[in-house]
Amino acid sequence: MSEPAVYGWVVWLWAGLALVMLPVLLVKTAPYGRYAASTGPSLPSRLGWIVMEAPAAAVFGACYLFGPGVGAASLVFLLLWESHYVNRAFVYPFRMRSAGKRMPLSIVVSAFAFNVVNGYLNGRWMSAFGSYPAAWLADPRFLAGAAVFLAGFAVNQHADWILLGLRKPGETGYRVPRGGLYRWVTCPNYLGEIMEWSGWALATWSPPGLAFALWTVANLAPRARAHHRWYHETLADYPRERRALIPFVL
Ligand code: NDP
Repeated sequence: MSEPAVYGWVVWLWAGLALVMLPVLLVKTAPYGRYAASTGPSLPSRLGWIVMEAPAAAVFGACYLFGPGVGAASLVFLLLWESHYVNRAFVYPFRMRSAGKRMPLSIVVSAFAFNVVNGYLNGRWMSAFGSYPAAWLADPRFLAGAAVFLAGFAVNQHADWILLGLRKPGETGYRVPRGGLYRWVTCPNYLGEIMEWSGWALATWSPPGLAFALWTVANLAPRARAHHRWYHETLADYPRERRALIPFVL
């Protein structure tokens, strides 16, 4: 079978797998961060984040480097993707206050594999299999999707910035995050991330974009629910009026 034919199967299987993972992750919270077990092989958290996220930046970039030449619209997608992933792989890990914390190897391996597949599916589409003439940049789907992506990027960055500022150097405990969208929800960082990849799906109007948006919801909506419960069970002064993920709704 040719690469585009295999690709066509894999991308829909990938989207279907996200739908399977949603109920699984509602029952079993991914064991990293506050849920990490102290047993089993692991890496220092910072190194774990770099190893997990670097493939998303590298594989997507390699698809452009080794693929056919691309036009302005595809280059805008490259810029959006790399703005997110260069930060996530090479800036965010150095801002974390994670002294002594470790990331289970099982999480590192599975997230590494996820990012290789997802980087390939999205990078190959945006740089080769999809068709994005320059006029796509004026299409309402692109304009609305890019606006949602950028708004999500801002929400995610601001929320991460507040969280990472809660600990003094050397601290590893948890405090109530306040300010910004934390006024209304427990996990605005996850809300921002879901907005980013939903915006990406709309702006690219593509099967791999849709699959990635589904994966992001499958990964982060259950985790937001778990964090919300954890705060209520762990911190006596946790604000009762906050929702988990979507202001006033959920
Ligand atoms: P968390 O909100 O669980 O933690 C983020 C960081 O803040 C960690 O270093 C954590 O420390 C620290 N932290 C969290 N809460 C507190 C608190 N109350 N007091 C002090 N420190 C705190 O986010 P994740 O680690 O799950 O995710 C990090 C980023 O990666 C997010 O922006 C998320 O959107 C993104 N992500 C995206 C995914 C996707 O599918 N696209 C999947 C997973 C994450 P500690 O680690 O010690 O708990």
